[in-house]
Amino acid sequence: LLQLTKKLIEIRQVLLSIDQSEALKLPSIVVIGSQSSGKSSVLEAIVGHEFLPKGDNMVTRRPIELTLVHTPHDDTTSPPEYGVFPSLGAQKVTSFPAIQRTLTELNQSVPSSIAVSSDPIYLRIHSPHVPDLTLVDLPGYIQISSMDQPEALKEKISELCDKYIQEPNIILAVCAADVDLANSAALRASRRVDPLGSRTIGVVTKMDLVSAEVGASILKGNRYPLHLGYVGVVCKAPTGFGSARIRRGGEAPNLTGAVLRREKEFFGSAENARFFYPPSERGSSRSSSDDMAGKVMVGTDTLRKRLMAVLETSMAANLSGITNAVQLELEEASYQFKVQYNDRRITPEAYVAETVDALKVRFKEFTSQFTKPQVRSKLKAMLDDKVMDILEQLYWADQRAAELSRLGEDKRLQPDDLDNYWKYKLDTASSLLTKSGVGRDSTQLVAEGLRGLIDSLATGEPFTFHPEVAERIIQFSRAILRERLGVTADQVENCIKPYKYEVEVDEREWEIGRQHSEEAFAMEISRCEGKLADIKKKVGGTRKLSSLVSFVHDIERRDAERTRRRFGSFGGGDSEENAAEANAEEAPLPDSYKYSPAQVADGRLAALFSDRLAILKARHKALQSKRCRMGPEQKAFCPEAFLSVVAEKLAYTSTMFINIELLEQFFYQFPREIDSRILYDLDRNEIAKFARENPVVKRHLDLQDRKDKLEQVMRSLQSLANMRQEKEPRSTRS
Ligand code: GDP
Repeated sequence: LLQLTKKLIEIRQVLLSIDQSEALKLPSIVVIGSQSSGKSSVLEAIVGHEFLPKGDNMVTRRPIELTLVHTPHDDTTSPPEYGVFPSLGAQKVTSFPAIQRTLTELNQSVPSSIAVSSDPIYLRIHSPHVPDLTLVDLPGYIQISSMDQPEALKEKISELCDKYIQEPNIILAVCAADVDLANSAALRASRRVDPLGSRTIGVVTKMDLVSAEVGASILKGNRYPLHLGYVGVVCKAPTGFGSARIRRGGEAPNLTGAVLRREKEFFGSAENARFFYPPSERGSSRSSSDDMAGKVMVGTDTLRKRLMAVLETSMAANLSGITNAVQLELEEASYQFKVQYNDRRITPEAYVAETVDALKVRFKEFTSQFTKPQVRSKLKAMLDDKVMDILEQLYWADQRAAELSRLGEDKRLQPDDLDNYWKYKLDTASSLLTKSGVGRDSTQLVAEGLRGLIDSLATGEPFTFHPEVAERIIQFSRAILRERLGVTADQVENCIKPYKYEVEVDEREWEIGRQHSEEAFAMEISRCEGKLADIKKKVGGTRKLSSLVSFVHDIERRDAERTRRRFGSFGGGDSEENAAEANAEEAPLPDSYKYSPAQVADGRLAALFSDRLAILKARHKALQSKRCRMGPEQKAFCPEAFLSVVAEKLAYTSTMFINIELLEQFFYQFPREIDSRILYDLDRNEIAKFARENPVVKRHLDLQDRKDKLEQVMRSLQSLANMRQEKEPRSTRS
């Protein structure tokens, strides 16, 4: 025995996993018959278990593509009998009632409005009791259309069956013995596609319902000859079969034995045997000469054997055709693989490893943006902004601002002679800076930079294809940052603590701070001038701007007067004067109609900038002055230079500790987390899924897979052909 069917069924399984191209399909046995003809009973007798959906309304709504795999008894590693629904995963279903429930559910997933779907349910049953067969159970033909089974449904079922009864499939036409064969929908359908019956087997069920004589004459098939013949069966299981034993907790009994016993009782009984068995098999009960036995086939067992033989023959006949088709597909796949990928093989594992490596390399490149000097200059810029804010708040907004610049110019004045007002002001400014939450702010700033870096890594190629993994990267990097953030901020804050009390400045530091401050002021001045120029341009020239500004000053003066009058002047003054001024308030502003509110707003802004510019210029001059160049002891005269030195010291210290506590830790941990959370954490399936998320890789893998499988199939087919050739001489001669 070549076991051609078994091997081809395996091949079929492989081909199905690539695609379902009709060209590659191997023959199956397609079971058709009218409703209640006994179709399910026949299939269940072959499988040996009740497993098909049962019920009052039509139960088979989708084709069930059933693959029976004969597994030898001695395989102790897996359960003796089980079913697998490939579409639901590789899980083994060991109980037949559970298979039945799943089939019913899959059937009912077709809405009753559609009633019949051509989308097949795939089911594999492995058992030592089944032959190697591929069977397709189809919805039963409807004989009489009624309210709940309309004409359209009848058509639909018929069309679905027509799709399946095409070559090279073998048709199993199920007809009940007690119904005239002339009325058999199954035979009618078969005759349309297979007029000679060369690939149709008739199964006549319910033989027990007609007399042996009538039954035997049906099986002879004189009226509707079929080349492959008819097999008569009695498949009805004894009522309540199985359920009682299952209820008692035992294993589901095998149906086949029960059916076989029943059939033996029926076909082999004293009065029937002569119609169904040849004398040799009948033993002693030899009788009349009208013996027609020997020419008919009966029994489920015979049916099984017949099916195996017919399928084997059909497979053999199709072998060369299939081999050719596979060969063509393989050539095409190999050609494409060569042309598109130059025969370069890839694996999902390699892709994951490459992706991770590339990620680490890019991470490493990115980290070069976080060297100490770079971090320090970022922090310094942030602190410089703070210094400007503090200066604005404490000095520029001070009415006495101009006074400090003037005092600075007085050469005889010693630092100790300076009014305490300015000394306190400097202390306040310094402590505003050192106590502004430098630890938190500087750590935050660097952490934000890191976050931005990770985001740009995780949203760049190829992670655009891998949103889940990208999310993972973002999550675990955030987690590392979160963990380090508090510690780092505290550490930094702790280390800058001495500066909150005293900042010692040497000559060199002072000069650097002074120069830096001078540059900062020059920049601030040019920014201010730029803004002013913009407004001038908008307003329409220097003259227009200056008249607008003097108008704004006018209003401001008037507003100030009005306030003074309403709340009383500091100098008192008599009430009559006040009254006169109150009247004057009513006098209209001469130029008020000339400007729109937007222009007035511009004017106010311009006034502000030119005031600011005056202060900035005065301070810029002071910073360049001899006094400021003299050294740190002049700090109260030159708060800008002093604060710049403090900012520099804060930036330096912060950078040192942020580097140790945050950056070094992060740069060490991140690549390791990539390994443990991506490289080692993904299981085989996740790796395959990950690789296939990238369409380029997916295409490559799919083609490679297809080629591999076709090669594997081709090898199997060739070894089958070789084996057949060895056997050929004997079988052709016989
Ligand atoms: P299906 O609708 O074609 O699948 O038919 P079923 O297999 O469900 O059978 C329809 C009815 O016929 C059921 O009540 C079966 O018990 C009964 N039946 C099936 N085979 C036989 C048989 O060989 N003899 C008798 N007497 N009844 C049978």
